[in-house]
Amino acid sequence: MMAPEDAFRLLADGLGKAGTPQAFDHLVERIASIFDGDHVLIGKVMSDGKTILTVAFWSQGSLQPAATYELAGTPCEHVLNDEICQFPDSLHEHFPDDEMLRELGAEGYVGVPLRAPNGQLLGLLALMSNRPLSLAAYAPEVLRIAATQAGAEMARRIAEETRRSSDRHIEQLIYWDSVTGLPNRRHFMERLQEACDQAQLQGKCLGLLYLDLQRFRQINDTQGHERGDLLLAEIAGRFGAQAESGEFVARLGGDEFMVLLTNTRPAAMAHAIERYRNSLSPPIQIADRSFSISASVGAALFPRDANNAQSLFQHASIALNHAKRDDSRTRFFNTNMADELHQREFLQLRFIEALNQGRLTLHYQPQFCLKSGKLSGAEALCRWYDDILGHVSPGTFIPLAEEQGLIRQLGDWVLDEACNQLHAWDALDKPFPGRLCVNVSAQQMDDPRLAEHVQRLATRVAPGRLGLELTESGLMRNPEQTVRITRALHDAGFGLAIDDFGTGYSSLTYLKRFAADTLKIDMSFVQDMLKSSHDHAIVATIIAMAETLGMQTVAEGVEEAEQAEALRELGCTGVQGFYYGRPVDGKTFADLWL
Ligand code: C2E
Ligand code: CA
Ligand code: CA
Repeated sequence: MMAPEDAFRLLADGLGKAGTPQAFDHLVERIASIFDGDHVLIGKVMSDGKTILTVAFWSQGSLQPAATYELAGTPCEHVLNDEICQFPDSLHEHFPDDEMLRELGAEGYVGVPLRAPNGQLLGLLALMSNRPLSLAAYAPEVLRIAATQAGAEMARRIAEETRRSSDRHIEQLIYWDSVTGLPNRRHFMERLQEACDQAQLQGKCLGLLYLDLQRFRQINDTQGHERGDLLLAEIAGRFGAQAESGEFVARLGGDEFMVLLTNTRPAAMAHAIERYRNSLSPPIQIADRSFSISASVGAALFPRDANNAQSLFQHASIALNHAKRDDSRTRFFNTNMADELHQREFLQLRFIEALNQGRLTLHYQPQFCLKSGKLSGAEALCRWYDDILGHVSPGTFIPLAEEQGLIRQLGDWVLDEACNQLHAWDALDKPFPGRLCVNVSAQQMDDPRLAEHVQRLATRVAPGRLGLELTESGLMRNPEQTVRITRALHDAGFGLAIDDFGTGYSSLTYLKRFAADTLKIDMSFVQDMLKSSHDHAIVATIIAMAETLGMQTVAEGVEEAEQAEALRELGCTGVQGFYYGRPVDGKTFADLWL
C-alpha cells in the first residue's frame, strides 16, 4: 500500500492536466497507480439518466475507447445514490447480470459520484480490482478530492458543449438558476429595471418583496447541500405556484428569493406577502424527513419608498435586515431605516478623507520558514483608525474602496508606504531580510497595465524585496490577462503569491500558466486541518501540488503549535499566524523581529 504522502503527490500530479483534453485519461491512470487497481473509469450520466458514457477508461495497463453501458444491475447504479460505495469482494455474486464485470474479471469495486460545483450529479469515478479490494485509510479522501476536481472538470466540459451547441442554452445559463429553475439575479435585475421604467411612464406602483428563509443555512449545514438544494427547489416550486399575473418570482442566490409585483398597492402587497408566506406552512418532505421553513420578508414600494430600481432594491434589502434583526417576520421600508444608509455614506466620506489625508497606516505580520525557523518575510496589512468610528477593519473598508473606485489609490499608497518602511528599517540598520508582501485587490487586476504601474511605483527598492499577494478569485476574473500581468511582474523580479488558495475550483489549469511562486493556503483549511480529515487532505494536496509545480507554500492563520507541526510534516515551506506573531506597526516589528 502506498504511503499517504506519495498517494497525495501522485494525486496532485493526476489533477495537473485539468482543463486539457487529457485531464480524465491522466487522472484514471494515476488513480489506478495509487490504488494498484486493475480498472478505473470516469463515466458521465447520459441525459436519459439510465446510461453511462465512459469518458476515460483505464483497464489493465492501457486506455480503452469510449463505450456506453446501462446502469441497471451494475454497482455503478448504487454509486449515484451514495457518497462513496464499496463492494470489497464477490462482485459477481452481487451483480450476476453485469456482463462487463464478468469480462473484466473484477472482484472488488469502489465508486464515488461526480458532481458539478453547484451540486448537480454528473457522473461517477469507479475503481475495480481483480482481487478482493482492501483500501488504505486515505482512500476516501483521495477519491473525494479526485471526484471534486473531476466533477468540476466535467461541469466545465458540459458548460463548454452547451455553449457551443446553442444560443438558447447560453440564455439558460445566464438567466436561469440551475438549482430551482427560477429566473436568477441577473434576470431579475433586468426585469426590475424594465418594470420601473414602465411604472414611471404609466404612473403606477411597483412592489418589491425580498424573502429570506429562516434557519435554511443551518439545515444546509447539517443535512448536506444535496438536501438543501432539493429543499430550495421545492420552495421555489411553491413560490412559483403563487405567482399571479403581474408577479415575477426569482431566486437571487443562497436562500434569498424575490417577488416583483407590478401595478400594486400597499394593501394588495400585504395580501401577497401572506400568500407567499402561507405557501411555506405545510412542512416539506425530503426523503424521510420533514422540514418546517418560514421566511422573513422585507418590502418596499415604488415610487413611495424609492424612485429608481437600484434604491428600490436597496430599500427592500434594508427592510429585510430589520425584519431579520427584530424577529418580526415582515417589515415595510420606512425612512428611519434609511439612517443606516446615511451611516454608510458617512463611513465612505470618512474613508475618503483618511485616504487623502494620509491617516491610514500599515501593520506588518511576520512570516517564517518552517525548516529553519527564520524570518522569511512579512505581509503588510492596512489599518484605519478613525477618531469617531474607532478601528475599522479592512474587511469593511477594502470593499468600500472597491465600490468607490478608490482601490487603485489605496493600492498605490500601500506599495509606496511599504517601500518607505523598507528604507526606514535599512536606515535603522535593521535591514529586513525577506520579502515584504502587499495585497493586491481583485479590482486592481482589471488594469492591463498593472505590471508597468507597479514597476514605476517601486523603483526605490529592489523588486526581489517585494511580493504581491493576489487572491485566487481575483486571478480568475480574467485569467488570460492575469497570465500576461503575472509574467511581466515575475520577469521584473517581483515575488508573487496566490492568496486564499484552495477556495476556488477552476484554477488548476491556469496555475501553471500564472507566474506565481507561492501559494498561500487559505486560513480556513489550516484552522480546521486537525479537526477535519477533509481539510487535512486538502492542505496535503495543495502542498503536494505546489511541490510538483515548483512553488512554495505559506500556510496562513496558524494559531497553534500542533498546526505548525502538522504543516511541517506535510512539507509546507512557510507559515504566518497569531501563533508566530500578530500584525504590528513598523517600529514594534523592528523591535521584535529585526
Ligand atoms: P488576507 O490577505 O487573507 O490577510 C490575512 C488576514 O488574516 C489579516 O486580517 C490578518 O490579520 C489575519 N490573520 C493573520 N494571522 C491570523 C491568525 O492566526 N488567526 C486569525 N484568525 N487571523 C489571522 P486583516 O488584517 O483583518 O485583513 C483582512 C483582509 O483585508 C486581508 O486578508 C486582505 O484581503 C484585506 N487587506 C488588508 N490590507 C489590505 C491592503 O493593503 N490592500 C488590499 N487590497 N487588501 C487588504
Ligand atoms: Ca494576503
Ligand atoms: Ca489570505
